[in-house]
Order: sequence, then C-alpha cells, then structure tokens
Amino acid sequence: MRYTFTVLYALMTVALLICARYAKQSRKSIGRSVSLLLLALVPPVIGNLIIIASGNQAISTIGCYIYFIGMDFVMFSLLRFTFDYTKISWPSQSLRIAVLSILGLDILQFLVNPFFHQAFTTEMILVDGFPYYRMIPYFGQTIHRIVDYGIFFAVLLIFFYCSVHVPRIYAERYSVILTSMILTGLLESYYIFSRRPIDTGITGFGLFGFLVYYFALYYRPRRLLDQMLANMASEMTEALFFFDSASRCIWVNRPARQLIGIDEDQFDLVLPKLKKMFGDFSLQEDDWDRKQTVGSGEEQSFYAIKKQTVLDDHGKRAAAFLSIRNETAEQRAIQQEKYNATHDTLTGLYTREYLYEQIARRLKADPDTDYLVVFVDISDFKIVNDIFGNEFGDHVLCKLADWIRQEATARSVYGRLAGDTFGVCMPKEEFNMERWGEPLSHFVVSSENREHPVLIHLGVYEITEPELEISVMFDRARLALTTIKDEYQRHIAYYDDEMRSKVLWNQFISAQLPEALAKRQIRPYLQPIVDVSGKIVGAEALVRWIHPTEGFLSPGVFIPVFEKNGMIAEVDKYMWRSACEILAGWKETNPDLFISVNISPKDFYFMDVEAEIKNVVKEFGVDPSRLRVEITETVMMTDLENRIRILNELKDDGFLVEMDDFGSGYSSLNMLKDMPVDVIKIDMMFLNKSKNDEKARRILHNILSLSADLGIISLTEGVEQLKQYEMLTDMGCKLFQGYYFAKPLPLADFEKLCSEAA
Ligand code: C2E
Ligand code: CA
Ligand code: CA
Repeated sequence: MRYTFTVLYALMTVALLICARYAKQSRKSIGRSVSLLLLALVPPVIGNLIIIASGNQAISTIGCYIYFIGMDFVMFSLLRFTFDYTKISWPSQSLRIAVLSILGLDILQFLVNPFFHQAFTTEMILVDGFPYYRMIPYFGQTIHRIVDYGIFFAVLLIFFYCSVHVPRIYAERYSVILTSMILTGLLESYYIFSRRPIDTGITGFGLFGFLVYYFALYYRPRRLLDQMLANMASEMTEALFFFDSASRCIWVNRPARQLIGIDEDQFDLVLPKLKKMFGDFSLQEDDWDRKQTVGSGEEQSFYAIKKQTVLDDHGKRAAAFLSIRNETAEQRAIQQEKYNATHDTLTGLYTREYLYEQIARRLKADPDTDYLVVFVDISDFKIVNDIFGNEFGDHVLCKLADWIRQEATARSVYGRLAGDTFGVCMPKEEFNMERWGEPLSHFVVSSENREHPVLIHLGVYEITEPELEISVMFDRARLALTTIKDEYQRHIAYYDDEMRSKVLWNQFISAQLPEALAKRQIRPYLQPIVDVSGKIVGAEALVRWIHPTEGFLSPGVFIPVFEKNGMIAEVDKYMWRSACEILAGWKETNPDLFISVNISPKDFYFMDVEAEIKNVVKEFGVDPSRLRVEITETVMMTDLENRIRILNELKDDGFLVEMDDFGSGYSSLNMLKDMPVDVIKIDMMFLNKSKNDEKARRILHNILSLSADLGIISLTEGVEQLKQYEMLTDMGCKLFQGYYFAKPLPLADFEKLCSEAA
C-alpha cells in the first residue's frame, strides 16, 4: 500500500510537471493559469510522497509543511484559473486582497508552527510494519482547513453557477470540472475525517489537475460544433441535400423540404423529385455547378445549383451534397434594373442609347436587308405643354408611342430619342408610306371629351451607308424632317444627298462669313424709294454677297442660314455701319436722302439692338432721322412689351421705325394702333398672289386709309407696273419701291441715278 502510493505520487509529480510545461506552451491564453495550477499541485503531491516514503519524523514533518503550505498555493492558483476560465472577474479588488492576505497569513502560521506548535505535531504509527508519522491537528490546522475549504467551495459555487447559467450546450465545459471537484472534495474529506494515515485525497487533486489540463486546453466541444453546424444548415436559406456514397439521400434541411415539397423523413422521394424539377444530374461525377430556370413567364424561377463531394480521410468519395439557391428575387431585380436603364419611364420605349445599341445590333445581324430610320417629331410640342399642361403633354407622348408600337413590324426597333422625338428603324420594304402618313393627317389625341389635333412629321433616312454612326443616321432623318417642319400637308420627308450638300454648303458659307465681311465681299445694294411725284427720297439697303467662287449671292440663300445660327447679327451690324458710312458720305451730295435698314428678329437675341444702332449713328455723325429701321411683325411676337419700349426709345431718338412686310404674316390691324411705327411697308407681291384682284384692291385700300387715319405713312413695295403705281397714288399711298422704279443697285449706280434725276 505505501509502496503503491509512493510510486503513484512519484509518477503523478512527473506527469504534472510535464503537463505544466505543455500547458505553458499552449497558444491558448488560459494555458498560463493551467500551468500554474498544475505546478502548484506538485508540492502537495511531493509533500505526501515524503510523508509516505520517509519513515523519519523530521523529514515527515518537512513533508507536512510542504503539503500544507503547498495547498495554499493550490488554492491561490485554483482561484486564478477559475476566474480565467469562467471569464468572471473578482467582484471587488478589496475582496481579492482579503483572500490573498488570508492565504498569506495561513502560510505564516505554518512558518511559526515549529515554535508554537499551534497547527500540528506528528506522532508515529506503524503502517505495513514500518514507522509512519502522521499529523495531529490543532487549532491552526482547523483554521487552515476552513480557509482552503472556503476557497474550494467558493470555486465550486462559481462553477456550479456557470454550469447552470450558460446555455446547455456550453454547460459541459463547466460541469466536467465541477464533477471532478466534487469528487476531489469528497476524497479529501474522507481522508480528513476517516483519519486514515495516507492522504488519498491528493490523488483526487492530481486527477483534477489532469482534467483541467485536458478540458481547458484540448477539449473541443464536438457536440456543440455538431449542433451548431446542424442548426446553421437548417437555418440556411439555401436548400441542402446530403447523400451518402451510394447517392441515397440522408438528410435535407427545411428549405430543401419546402423546395421539393416533402415531409420530414421522406428521403426516398428526394432524388426523383429533384430530377423531375431540374432534369437529370449525377452525384457521382466531379463537382459541378449550374444556373437553371424553372417555369416561364411570371412563374419563372431562377436557381443556382451546386454539387460538392465530401471526401474521407483517405481521399475517397464518402458523400455528396447539393445546395440549391433560389436566385429569382435577385434575377428579377437585375432584370428590373436593366429594364429601367434601357427603357423610358414614361412611354416604356427604349431609351436613346439602348435604341442605338439595338439598331446597331439589328443591322449587323441582318446585313442583306435594306433598312431605314425614321425620325418622328411633334410640332410645337412646347406649346402643347404650355397650353394644355404637362399631364396632357405626357398623354400625347404616350399616345404617339402607342401608335409607333402598333405600326412597327416584327423586325422594327424603336425608342424615344428625346423629349418629343422618337426613332424607328425598320426594313425599307416594310415601311409603307401611305400607311404611316395617312393617320398623321388627322392625328388627334383626346382628353376629357375633347379632341386635340397634334401635328406630327416623319423624317426618313434610307440607310445607304450602314457604316455610319446611328446618331448620324438620325441626324439625316431629322434634317429631312426640318424641310417640312412647318407644313400641314406633307408629313413625311425623305433624306437625300442634296439635303446633305445643302448642309455642307451652309457650313461652308458660315465659315467664310468673317472673311467676307472683312474683304467687303458682302455689301449693301440700294433700292430707290420714291414719292408720289416719282422723286427718289431714299433707299432700302439690301445685302449682297459677291462671292469669289459662288458668284453673286442674293440674301434669300444665306440670310436664312445665318438667322438659324445667329450670325445674322454680324451681317446686320455690318449693314447698319455701311448705311451710316454712305449717309455720312452724302452729307454734301444727297443730304435729304434716307436709308432703311433691316433688323432681323434674331438680332434681338444676340445684341442690344438699340445701343448698337445709336452708337453707329453717333460714330459717323449721322442724323438719326436719315436712318430708318425696318422690323417685321415677328419681332413683336415675343417679349412684346420690351420690344415696344425699344421702338419707342428709337423713335424718341429721332429714328423712323418701319413695319416691313405688313400683311404677310400674323399682322392684325389691331396691332397697328399699339405699335410705335412711323411707316408701314405693304408688299404688292403678297397681294398679287390673291386671285381675286378686286378683293386685294379693297384690302389695300382699307389698309391705306386706316394708316392715313392713324397718321402712319404708307409705303408699297414690289411695285412693278405703272398701273399699280397710279392705282396706289389714287388710293393715297405716299411712298413706293419696286422694279418699276429700279432694282436694288450698287452704290455707284444708285448715286448716278440720283444725279441724273436731279
Ligand atoms: P425685304 O426686306 O422685304 O426686301 C425687299 C425684297 O423685295 C428685296 O429682295 C428686293 O430685291 C425685292 N424687291 C423689291 N422690289 C421688287 C419688285 O418689284 N418685284 C420683286 N419680285 N421683288 C422686289 P432681296 O434683296 O432678295 O431681299 C430679300 C429679303 O432678304 C428681304 O426682304 C429681307 O427680308 C432680307 N434682307 C435683305 N437684306 C437684308 C439685311 O441686310 N438684313 C436682314 N436682316 N435681312 C435682309
Ligand atoms: Ca425690308
Ligand atoms: Ca419687305
């Protein structure tokens, strides 16, 4: 018996030391406190070893000291381990100091025991016929036991608390230590109270040390892991199917059951159901994954299926699992996003970018068919919006989109290009001019029981150069459209190369304007204006361009181009200067003559007309009454009040204001009374257009007498015949201009004419 325990304790010492060493090397943070606890257990074991083995009183007594003092260190390290392991901290710092002090005092009382013998003495008994010195406890020993038991129970309570208060699945790590502590406690108590000579309780402590070592450092909560994995698998949104090596289904999670519609354990149904849903597949071959759609239309679902193999330790195929993810929502979102990016929100048609993309694709895919592009435009859509409101405007756009949708053939591609313009691309042979054009002559959009006609035009470009950018194709179609933009009868215009050369020619002359002005290729011609007696009283300055390569250009070919691009302002400024220059030169020769200059409605957008005219008159020292300004009614169509103010100021400064082309536009006699004009110019040409001569004559008569009433001087231009001149004179017209008197003439010719007449 003694021998057995001697060997046992010796082995235990070695084992504790080894474990302590490994614990210290452990990468876990708990390793240090485990190591300390194991080391602390060594002295009590050695102490007991000495007591059992020595048979000598002095040595046995030393063994007792090592044992008892060692136990205090065990309690200290046990506390440290406990707090580390349970992650509980000391309730208060003072408690900690108190406990440590008590342990210190206990050690102290053992140190003074050789002098006072208050803790214990030893007495000899015979065990196995060999002397054995056993301890006789006194008061001090009782204190020692109370301290150590106290700490031991406190630790027990902590572990008990932990094992009850953590989720059951974690309780294991505490309950094992708790159980071994209870066992140790019982063993120790048995020794103490049975007063058996050999302290067997210390074996319990040793064992406890090893358990701590294992549980704190090596134990992996396998059950915890298993359960966590199983939970995760069943909580996953993916459907999971597990198969054994023979492709028998062994487990599925909840989403999997829902996916194929089976009950908890109907594993036999899994494979047939899966194959029915997703088609055939193999669980044996290498891993694979694929995307698959099921159903169609609204019911269509998207799945990502993945098969993975589970290999055993020897690399053999042990099992397989399928994971199936329902990606329908994501796919729908992606599709929706793509749809939003490529479709116009209002009409649902393609956006311009996407339309271009689709047309390019179509042309590439079908190179043998001749295609054309159509540019669709609503005339004065801004006015539709202004008058009827944006909501109605939107309604018009939707109706037009519907119409395009309805007319488009299967091989057509169409979309919304911008605000009120749409684009269509279709095979040439499928575009039926009558079919498309006919509805446009009476395109009506109805709202709230009312019907509003909408003017729509189409520009068509037959794709003769497929290598062109799609945007350029539509530019050409748009160009064709601009040629009929204001027409109510024609709704479709085809692009031809003539249009293109016209555009190029426009660009060509626009680029040359600055040089032409500088070199005086552009110059005024003067058309005489005569009075009732036929005497020249003034002239209208009309622009001419003597072009080095294009020859003599009349304003009809370039003025509209410059009015469109704004360069007209440069031309007019130049003409006004030229007129003042001429007037300045006439101060001696023709001091009574005036010159009328034209003001384009566009001039008002590009300069301060009033300031410009005043400055140029000042610069040349010309009397303002010599310079007359001609404006058309279109000038008054925008910003009316401001324009009236400008005219008034010009009048105040002494200029004469003339209303050009009176009667050709929207003129109303009513306007005449509000407008600050001195002269109205009535164009014979527009009156001649009327078939009914008598009617024209009466209109003319009325205008002339009305202007006389209003104190406005009347001037008739376009007078070509003597009888016109006579008739107008009879009617009371004061001034005349026209080929009958003279055509517009170069300055020198005009001056010659004047001097001849004089
Ligand atoms: P407008 O201001 O009405 O000028 C009168 C036009 O009628 C001139 O044409 C003149 O040559 C033409 N004309 C005059 N008498 C007769 C006639 O008896 N029979 C016929 N058939 N025609 C006659 P032109 O010079 O070709 O000018 C055309 C238009 O170009 C002008 O019409 C005017 O609107 C514009 N224009 C001419 N010069 C300028 C300018 O310097 N600035 C601006 N902004 N426009 C100008
Ligand atoms: Ca004029
Ligand atoms: Ca005119």
